[in-house]
Amino acid sequence: MTVAARTADLTGGRPVVPSRGVLRPLGLSEVRITGGFWAQRQATNGRATLDHGREWMDKLGWTGNFTAEVGHGSAERRGREFSDSEVYKLIEAMSWETGRQADPARDAEITELTAMIASAQAEDGYLHTAFGRSGQRARYGDLAWGHELYCAGHLLQASVARARTSGDDALLNVARRVADHVCEEFGPAGRDAVCGHPEIEPGLVELFRATGEQRYLDQAALFVARRGRRTLPRHEFGWAYFSDDIPVREAKVLRGHAVRALYLAAGVVDLAVETGDDELLETVAAQFDRTLARRTYLTGGMGSRHLDEAFSDDFVLPADRAYSETCAGIAAIMVAWRLMLATGQERYADVIERILYNVVATAIGDDGRSFFYAHTLHQRSLTPVLPGDVEQLGFGGGPRAPWFEVSCCLANTARMLASLSTYVASADDDGLRVHQYADADLDTTLADGRRVGLRMRTGYPDDGTVGIEVTAAEPGPWTLALRLPSWAAGATVTVNGQPQPVSGDRAVLRRDFAVGDRIVLALPMRPRFTRPDPRIDAVRGCVAVEQGPVVLCAESVGGALDLDSLRVDAGTDPAADGGVTVRGLTEELPERQWPYADAGPVGQRTTRDVPLVPYHRWARSGPSTMRVWLPTT
Ligand SMILES: [Zn+2]
Repeated sequence: MTVAARTADLTGGRPVVPSRGVLRPLGLSEVRITGGFWAQRQATNGRATLDHGREWMDKLGWTGNFTAEVGHGSAERRGREFSDSEVYKLIEAMSWETGRQADPARDAEITELTAMIASAQAEDGYLHTAFGRSGQRARYGDLAWGHELYCAGHLLQASVARARTSGDDALLNVARRVADHVCEEFGPAGRDAVCGHPEIEPGLVELFRATGEQRYLDQAALFVARRGRRTLPRHEFGWAYFSDDIPVREAKVLRGHAVRALYLAAGVVDLAVETGDDELLETVAAQFDRTLARRTYLTGGMGSRHLDEAFSDDFVLPADRAYSETCAGIAAIMVAWRLMLATGQERYADVIERILYNVVATAIGDDGRSFFYAHTLHQRSLTPVLPGDVEQLGFGGGPRAPWFEVSCCLANTARMLASLSTYVASADDDGLRVHQYADADLDTTLADGRRVGLRMRTGYPDDGTVGIEVTAAEPGPWTLALRLPSWAAGATVTVNGQPQPVSGDRAVLRRDFAVGDRIVLALPMRPRFTRPDPRIDAVRGCVAVEQGPVVLCAESVGGALDLDSLRVDAGTDPAADGGVTVRGLTEELPERQWPYADAGPVGQRTTRDVPLVPYHRWARSGPSTMRVWLPTT
């Protein structure tokens, strides 16, 4: 093993390091989450979830696929074509975790897995355990479904994570050889083709950022230029499934398989930033903005079609058929973060926050060893739990499932949580910006090299008061900007008790800060009704209730309360005395032979105060029915 040269872009533990943009991301060494909502989840992730992932990947043979026995054909390769990528994503998560908190045992585990992976690499750099060896299918014979470049993309990201959180470049060396092979095979004189599942694109750009190797960026550009020319075989759901229906530059909105489309969009933002292609950046930003405006759930979840895990048409967002895969949420955070760094637009941090509290936090069980794969917004019936059948779990109703045959979401969640502190704040030319509110300590330098320290303490999201104390400062003015979420009308900010002007999407405080200065941001956290665009027919006439960034839901553990007949009085504000309630009624409706008539049925009505809980808490006390969107009286 050699020790990597500690160049600027291999330190600091940042998942994304653009060479230009309005904002500069901060790394794991600059921002630490120290307590509260996310610290608890990070701790569980760092112990239970990473161990759980490793145990299952060993048990199912996904790690064993890299061993010589499988390589020589004396043992059977196990798992689907994309199982290699899960090992890579797990290593990425382990890497961010060791960057967050030193852990010699985990570090040794990464070294062990890296050696195993390196041993499976072919002479020419090719690396995939399901293709190209004796008794296996030929390399690149099935670009639509083989996931070879997809897996390579995750390896590239994992290697960059490892390099940026340690002095160990062993995995980076494996990744460079993979990337060199990909450039040979798919370069200008090579195969004129793309992978059925985008992911190599952001992987190549980040490897370019980490190594400075121009050909990786050029190869990413080639893959993006080739996408949309229908070189993949037609899918039964159309070429849109692979984002291969229309060239990237001509598309107006994200479509097809949601995770595919979002990973591609993340790579396109990266590419546009590194090549200085502002037209491409504006194009992909417009696609994402339109997707937010027309194809996104209240939770920030994306993808409403179960059939092909895909985006549907504009405003087709049925609550009871929401697919909203966990991975699509994480991929949307990847896109939003890249766009925010590039443009400085704080509204993308709103999107990230929405997804974090309502998709990512919902996905993981309290034990860190159980998961939702999909995120319905309306669970009508209790999920029957059949012994031994875990695959039916994790799609609603509860309980969360320990594993899936397609277990993409677990390691994705793990890498997001382990690197979460890097999304809390960023730096710009003039100072610092705080995007997410959590107990966190910041210690970084401004663009001009002055050192700055901040200590943020808050009960957020249960409490809207955020206190920030300056713990390090050097003379001279700089700007501290605090995001004002779009829902936070009436927010106030004080510095050392003095009220400050507040408007727009962030409070901008410019002054000569001194150690001990105290900033207090107060965000209004009373629960509020939210109404959908009338074009979302599936929930027309309904309201939802949100409190701060948290979407609430009505839940009936065991299904005792009939949520199907529930209607709420949207003229009476939600109450928030020791838990949120709304005024409403349920109705005992008569059974009818035909559910349509010139007038609706009338039954025995019971008025009641209906308790609401955070959506991310649902199905934690046993199988339950649930709804986010509440019809009104
Ligand atoms: Zn997934």
